Amino acid sequence: MTDVNLDKTYEHDKKERKVHRLRIIFNRKGCIGSGHCMLSDPYNFAWDEKIDWKALLVDGKPMEGKFQGELFVKEIETDSPHLVMNAAKTCTPRAIAVFDIDEKKFIA
Ligand code: SF4
Repeated sequence: MTDVNLDKTYEHDKKERKVHRLRIIFNRKGCIGSGHCMLSDPYNFAWDEKIDWKALLVDGKPMEGKFQGELFVKEIETDSPHLVMNAAKTCTPRAIAVFDIDEKKFIA
């Protein structure tokens, strides 16, 4: 979605069990419905069966303003950030971005 302030080298220590506060940003307009995100992170992504079989950011809130209906946002706390990071990294059209709230940078 964006390379602005993206730390491509970011890795978390899986043994550390640290809780990460993350903001997931999903560009629904850019989604082509390939389904890779749900395989990587079924906790945060599912099929939108009711509309058009694109991805659905589970419990995501629509962003207000210019991008309403296109961008959805959700904040999570997790000790397994690699799940949503893998979802973003496997999304071919790059419709998913992950921002680390405490580190103040995009990590995927
Ligand atoms: S991986 Fe990307 S393009 Fe594929 S369903 Fe998920 S958000 Fe849509």
